Amino acid sequence: MVALSAFKLQPSGQAGNPDHSKRRGRNQQVKNPHRAVCYIGGLGRQSFKIVTRGGLEWLECGGLARFPWLLHAFSTRRGGVSKGAARGLNLGLIPSDSPANVHKNRRRLFTKLGAENFALASLRQTHSSHIYRAVGKTPGEPEYHLSGYAAPKLTHNRAPAGDALMTDEPGILLSVRVADCLPILLVDPRRRAVAAVHAGWRGALARIVEETVGVMRQVFGSDPRYLRAAVGPGIRACCYEVSEDVVAAFCGRFVRGEKYFRALPPQNPSDAIATRYPLLFLSKEPPGHLADRLPAAHLDLVAVTKDQLQSAGLRASNIHVAEFCTACRTDLFFSHRKEGARTGRMMAVIGIKAGTGD
Ligand SMILES: [Zn+2]
Repeated sequence: MVALSAFKLQPSGQAGNPDHSKRRGRNQQVKNPHRAVCYIGGLGRQSFKIVTRGGLEWLECGGLARFPWLLHAFSTRRGGVSKGAARGLNLGLIPSDSPANVHKNRRRLFTKLGAENFALASLRQTHSSHIYRAVGKTPGEPEYHLSGYAAPKLTHNRAPAGDALMTDEPGILLSVRVADCLPILLVDPRRRAVAAVHAGWRGALARIVEETVGVMRQVFGSDPRYLRAAVGPGIRACCYEVSEDVVAAFCGRFVRGEKYFRALPPQNPSDAIATRYPLLFLSKEPPGHLADRLPAAHLDLVAVTKDQLQSAGLRASNIHVAEFCTACRTDLFFSHRKEGARTGRMMAVIGIKAGTGD
């Protein structure tokens, strides 16, 4: 049991989500919500922008767009043919949308990105720390090699279970699907290798992004000092209330793990009732203990990710963070937490263009 009252209360505008306009002062309002801002001083430049093309919108990171041999995007929900709960540009094969819609959406996006001839590499995401290298031995069908094993894990276009992909081969489009979890794209400009990582709290706890950098070093000879990281839109501390089990898990795994949490008013309705009517709950709690339960713990996944990237050897100035909270901005993104399991899925994609040897 971890006492949540031990957390230092920080305004989420500083710690968790600068895009959360409700918690901002009048003078700090974001005039243009599409303009991404730097997450914390010392991190990468204000380099994310929304690209609009053919009715679709996606985010591009300037720190990655500078490499002409590279192709990448973080999709939004804008554009697309899906209706209902997954309305917009749903890119995940989920029960609340038809496969025909998803394939149409994917085709539209990949065509607009110039990736229509790439072989799509994707995984059955399980919040694990399994990392695969995608290789394109069969045209149109990547093979997946689990890190540490030379033999392919699975072939015939069946996505294996895992949460990070990497490749150094042109023509393969690495993808991760998200709706609140963080999508992280990594680029080694020297070795021309790329990676895509899916990290929610379980992946962060398993240090998946740190391990991915480690495997890139091992497989491609990457020097982390020169790696670039782009952290896409995800749920931020303002909206990411977690249970005390999650707090305990992080505090058990990381030195000073409590620094990744903010004490904020609870979002759980039952806790809200407890806040408003504490006398109703006094009979269930020992005297004096109710107050300790009132603040809720909110996880700052970006802070965990940033620490892990730096711990793996990346320079802070090479870590770029898109300043959007998916749960605050359901006009722009899908949010599992805010909208439920039937909502759509976005995709972060990255690939090396063929025929760009110089
Ligand atoms: Zn939020």
